[in-house]
Amino acid sequence: MPKEPVKVKELPVDKRIGNFNEVVSGYSENEALSESSRCLQCKNPVCISGCPVSINIKEFIFQITKKDYAGAYLTIRKTNNFPSICGRVCPAEYQCRRACVLNKSKLAYCSPEAINIHLLERFAGDYGMKDNLEIVQDKNIKLSKIKAAVVGSGPAGLCCAGELARKGIKVVVFEGLQSCGGVLRYGIPSFRLGRQELDHEINYLSKLGVEFKTNVIIGKTFSLDELFQQGFSRVFLGLGAGVPEFLGIKGENLCNVYSANEFLTRLNLMSAYKFPEHHTPVNIGEHVLVIGGGNTAMDAARCALRLQKIKGIKPDVKIIYRRTEAEMPARRLEITHAKEEGIEFKFLTQPKEFYSDDLGFVQKLNCRNCRLGEADSSGRRSPVILEGSDFSIPCDLAIIAIGLQANQVLTSVTPGLKTDKYKDIVVDPKTMETSIKNVFAGGDIVGGEGTVIEAMGMAKRAAKFIIDNA
Ligand code: FAD
Ligand code: SF4
Repeated sequence: MPKEPVKVKELPVDKRIGNFNEVVSGYSENEALSESSRCLQCKNPVCISGCPVSINIKEFIFQITKKDYAGAYLTIRKTNNFPSICGRVCPAEYQCRRACVLNKSKLAYCSPEAINIHLLERFAGDYGMKDNLEIVQDKNIKLSKIKAAVVGSGPAGLCCAGELARKGIKVVVFEGLQSCGGVLRYGIPSFRLGRQELDHEINYLSKLGVEFKTNVIIGKTFSLDELFQQGFSRVFLGLGAGVPEFLGIKGENLCNVYSANEFLTRLNLMSAYKFPEHHTPVNIGEHVLVIGGGNTAMDAARCALRLQKIKGIKPDVKIIYRRTEAEMPARRLEITHAKEEGIEFKFLTQPKEFYSDDLGFVQKLNCRNCRLGEADSSGRRSPVILEGSDFSIPCDLAIIAIGLQANQVLTSVTPGLKTDKYKDIVVDPKTMETSIKNVFAGGDIVGGEGTVIEAMGMAKRAAKFIIDNA
């Protein structure tokens, strides 16, 4: 009889929705041993092809079965700088787990039988973190003469900084916000990614000699040219996609209609859920609508629910999505958690117009029903509006989470830095070099919104080219 997949422990619903504590506990040693023993150690480990940075999954799982946890950690670290982080946030069901031979699903995401690769990665990552296992610096005299500037401290910037610093290159990271981490800090809530994992990785980079300068916006505080004048000979741009998209419908500028970015930043970066102990407030309503179907929408909805509970409001949060659950791009686990926590999903629903009360505060959203039509360029079936199906939903707080665009603060003031029609930076995909020599880019600013591991993959490619061609 094949063994059953080992379920991971999670906080029960009543213990999670009144706080921001991490929901998934991670595997114990016995659970990790049991789950790793399900791996077939395939001759052709196809799981690896599903990993954007080609972690040697077969090898690290084998090392776990042998209780060589340090070895497993080091195997992952060869290609992934942040195992504890990726083990928590990677959409593994669409990536390595989907490619695993034990996956029985033909859908875009895997069935539960696929090995829980991400949970084993998290186990090994947390072991390495607890034991302070660190990758030794491989200093190179020639490289130590180079000074590199990294702009942006999201996963792309942090990963590039780590790769360069490990080879002895002097790295300074410039971050526009007051804390480092990018979306890992201001977007993804602590109930999904504990802040100690992020802080651990940033501290490790500091130990490698990486210097962090926060509250510095390149393109405003200094130009790209000024960085070169300051002695930096290589620059990596990990600017992310921090600009929210809007629906473009009437009433979207009413009071209490937030972008998910603003709502999440207030909560996660500025601790608004602890207001007035912390200075930043955030509004919350009795009837919250979140528009969108990705991770950002799930995070915003789950944060809103927690905030309602903390404020003593009877939870009422609805997600409005114009396709069906199958087309939702969010991680499957986040959808499951959102449902468990009591968030209501309204599928095949297209917002039409927000209406306000006499004071200009949002009061209701008019919507129309949709049906699924032909597949679009993303391969997902497009929503087709059903004329005459108008209905309204009461809401006193709405959060728009339908997508993000390139951050143009730097690109718009840098002549010669080529961007495409989406305002993303154009790079040579092999080297990640931009149209300006010695200026590289990676992460969401190249090719648009992606994932943490994809951002890191691009950063590694840029760092490798910088190192190999120094
Ligand atoms: P970012 O993380 O956006 O970091 C860019 C940084 O650059 C920011 O800190 C910004 O302040 C800084 N910056 C920008 N311009 C300047 C400038 N001119 N000067 C100085 N600093 C600057 N992916 C997953 O894999 N799993 C998930 O579960 C997941 N959940 C998500 C949830 C949310 C709410 C969001 C928004 C995204 C999520 N993603 C997830 C996507 C993932 O977070 C991104 O793909 C990833 O963070 C991109 O990394 P990055 O380094 O390119 O950019
Ligand atoms: Fe095979 Fe899946 Fe194990 Fe990879 S994780 S070696 S595909 S059983």
